[in-house]
Amino acid sequence: MTEIKSLLVYCGAHEGFHPKFGEAAKGLGKILAREKIKLIYGGGSIGLMGILANEVLKNGGEVEGVIPDFLNVKEIGHKSLTKLHLVKSMHERKAVMEKLCDAAIALPGGFGTMDEIFEMLTWKQLGLHKKPIGILNQHGYYNHFVLQMNRMVEEGFLTVANRDLLFVAETIPELLAMMMTTEQTAQEMWIQPGQE
Ligand code: AMP
Repeated sequence: MTEIKSLLVYCGAHEGFHPKFGEAAKGLGKILAREKIKLIYGGGSIGLMGILANEVLKNGGEVEGVIPDFLNVKEIGHKSLTKLHLVKSMHERKAVMEKLCDAAIALPGGFGTMDEIFEMLTWKQLGLHKKPIGILNQHGYYNHFVLQMNRMVEEGFLTVANRDLLFVAETIPELLAMMMTTEQTAQEMWIQPGQE
């Protein structure tokens, strides 16, 4: 059983073309506020990031953002968060966000979201943390990503155990339940001797 008091959410700096993406971000915001799970995120006020943060705040929840100085203008650092951490670089942003959370998930997003979830996964693969990680496969948004991971396994570049470090679900309640109830074991070594 993993207790999740703070959830790191990676998501797009865009809203996506279809309103369903924003609606899912709002749904997550309501759940986080209701369950008293603090939101940790990139600190911006635009895109799905902004929608999510606003919904948590609107429902009386807590939000901590982490934004690099130079993005504070471009991504319009949110002005009314519980706390906004100003950092120097993208690398520092990711490291600080990881330290602040008990678990991490990705909603739909672009390169930034992918970069962040992959870094969290590679840190876990290396045994640097044991935090649960998941993706919300809303309306099949990440179907191709799941297929790509299976291809990596088939071709011998990813072990089944490491692929299974990532929880995948179509709804937030399902995803959170999987992350809270599955035992998280540390990855001992990145590559075991003799492992193909
Ligand atoms: P995107 O998914 O491309 O819309 O980006 C979502 C968020 O990820 C935005 O806040 C970006 O600033 C952030 N981001 C993009 N690249 C990186 C990176 N290398 N490290 C940390 N955050 C990033």
